[in-house]
Amino acid sequence: MAITSELQHTVGKTAGFSGTSLHTGEKVSLKLHPAPADHGVKFKRKDLQDEPTIDAKIDNLKMVERATTLGEGAVRVHTVEHVLSALSAMGVDNAIVEMDANEPPIGDGSAQPYVDLIKKAGVTAQEQPRKFFDVREPMHVESKTGALLVLLPDDTFRISCTQAGPNNRFAQFLSTEITPAIFEREIAPARTFVYYEDVRPLMEKNLIKGGSLENAIVVRGEAVLSKEPLRFADEFVRHKILDIIGDLALVGRGIRGHVVAVKPGHAANAELARALAREQTRRSAMSAPRAVPIGDGGLDTDEVMQILPHRYPFLMVDRVIGFEGENKITAVKSITINEPFFQGHFPGHPVMPGVMQVEAMAQVASLLLFKLAKTTSRIGYFMSADSVKFRKPVLPGDTMFIHAELTKSRGERLAKAKCHCVVNDAVVSEGELMFTFLDK
Ligand SMILES: [Zn+2]
Repeated sequence: MAITSELQHTVGKTAGFSGTSLHTGEKVSLKLHPAPADHGVKFKRKDLQDEPTIDAKIDNLKMVERATTLGEGAVRVHTVEHVLSALSAMGVDNAIVEMDANEPPIGDGSAQPYVDLIKKAGVTAQEQPRKFFDVREPMHVESKTGALLVLLPDDTFRISCTQAGPNNRFAQFLSTEITPAIFEREIAPARTFVYYEDVRPLMEKNLIKGGSLENAIVVRGEAVLSKEPLRFADEFVRHKILDIIGDLALVGRGIRGHVVAVKPGHAANAELARALAREQTRRSAMSAPRAVPIGDGGLDTDEVMQILPHRYPFLMVDRVIGFEGENKITAVKSITINEPFFQGHFPGHPVMPGVMQVEAMAQVASLLLFKLAKTTSRIGYFMSADSVKFRKPVLPGDTMFIHAELTKSRGERLAKAKCHCVVNDAVVSEGELMFTFLDK
């Protein structure tokens, strides 16, 4: 299977298999479907009404205890790290992972069944270039449990991992580049391993009904229990590498860098993935145009006011700098001491209220939606704001760049946009906004 690493890839055709889910012990079928460029990997719950999907993105990470759980709204998918690891390492950027349960089949506890499935479906190149995260300077995360993950610049994706059990038993080390061929041969067959003292309480509570010696290696004292003998003398550290790849896949980009991991676990892996995603957001913000061009595909104040009904003091957009494709917009607002909110927020210590930044995001996102709909006969209502974070104060004299990207639109009525505001090359606020449209 030749992977042209500069291009995005999807699976060649739909392929599936069935098995047992780890936590409920019930039968589950999983199918991989091709998906268009820039789609990413999405999980689809075929068993639920309306068949909701969940993006395999770090923003949707809900829980990292023993396994990785993703969720959007009330919908969840559990134990997704092995299928994500295989997709990412085998070079599949875009796919729909359809399941008729809340968890993929556990298989033999390794990523082998997923590699087999991907090979059955085939991997085909798409026209769009693949997106990468290039590590430019060392980054690291450290946890109270002793996990340490360091990411260093490298031209390839490499992992050097040290694994150690309780009292440093089963200490193992492996360093390898991750390519589809190396993953398939050296990493994918490594099975999940658990310590008996960790799983006994779960077994007693009947929380791992599908768990058995057929899909995990159990370590009890010095004894290693499993149905078939160890596949590698250092199988544990190989499985740790498998999990790192799966958790870092939530960044949604290929990584060019060297991960040095000491006693990694899902929580620390997820924290590193989050740090990468944050850095990526910061970099995207910095690549925005700095100068404010006149005309040039943007909208001036008059044109903005023809579209938006808002007026002083509530118009939070001075000018639209430009649109990128159908889904992205960048606008600008100069914050002056004359803004009415500074009078009361706060006397002697003027800080732009965070809610006004959210309002600015909402107005900029609506400009994009109106442009898409090509009509102003309907009015957009702001329904919800999720994952809103205020990272830095915005002060008089600041020029605020407002970015919005349409991430979802369901029919004509619902739309979701991911937004962030940038001042002096730093993200000052971000949020995900949802809108509904009604006729005026
Ligand atoms: Zn695992």
